[in-house]
Amino acid sequence: MKIPKLIIHGGAGSLEGNVSKKEDLRKSLKNICQLTYKKLLQTDAYSAVLFGICQLEDDPLFNAGTGSKLQNDGRIRMSAGIMDGEKNKFSGVINIQNIKNPILVADKLQFEKHTIIAGDKATQVARDFGFQQYNPLVQKRWDEHLRLQKGKTGTVGVVALDKNGNIVAGTSTGGIGGEIPGRVSDSPTVAGNFANKFAGISATGIGEQIVNSGTAVKIATRVEDGMDLKEAVNKTIDDAKAFNYEFGVISISHKGEICVDKTTDSIFYSWYDGENIDVF
Ligand code: ASP
Repeated sequence: MKIPKLIIHGGAGSLEGNVSKKEDLRKSLKNICQLTYKKLLQTDAYSAVLFGICQLEDDPLFNAGTGSKLQNDGRIRMSAGIMDGEKNKFSGVINIQNIKNPILVADKLQFEKHTIIAGDKATQVARDFGFQQYNPLVQKRWDEHLRLQKGKTGTVGVVALDKNGNIVAGTSTGGIGGEIPGRVSDSPTVAGNFANKFAGISATGIGEQIVNSGTAVKIATRVEDGMDLKEAVNKTIDDAKAFNYEFGVISISHKGEICVDKTTDSIFYSWYDGENIDVF
């Protein structure tokens, strides 16, 4: 029996354009971390990750679900991925539109033969599953778009280890803002979100650089091959520093280690190890 562990992040770009205040972000993250940990105790890592990501998607402070940034044609396209370490299964949606919780569509795809769907077809599949039309736009994002504000970052993520030792990772994003329509973020890929029986990782930062690094899957593989989580994470971040990449990760190992490392300062996260809760 393991002590359940949880870590969540609110993205690397939450302060871009000063549309959100640091204290509000920290308060919300801590609250969501507490609620999600309760869920983790009552259920399992998979249910807790879905719950936590939905909370973050529903909070307009964060760039995922409600409050997502707009692409340069004035439309919101969202992406999300979830991976169950025990089942070794990833599912996700890429550039889905007019959905309240992209992570819930990714969840449905866990049980399908084809587990990653993109663009209009992702939206269509969501409607076929019964997801209602929903407009995730909030005023501050529209104002950013009118100012032609281009972003670099912004995403949410949750990683959990449950009492049975299963690790699950989930990540959801509205993208970077002002990007070319159809750009694919790292979040619905195994570079940005990955879990196996040894570690779970969610990344945030510049998506192209996270993909170039193969970040999340690389960390999990290093842990599977015998490295401690901290060593695996630090080495992967060091590899990224050599290219001046800007991103960070949250992670948990099967031994219950929690680790965060980053090449940039602006990532907000909160963790709960069963005894202590902290927010950064
Ligand atoms: N990785 C996300 C993207 O490139 C943004 C972020 O995590 O901050 O779309």
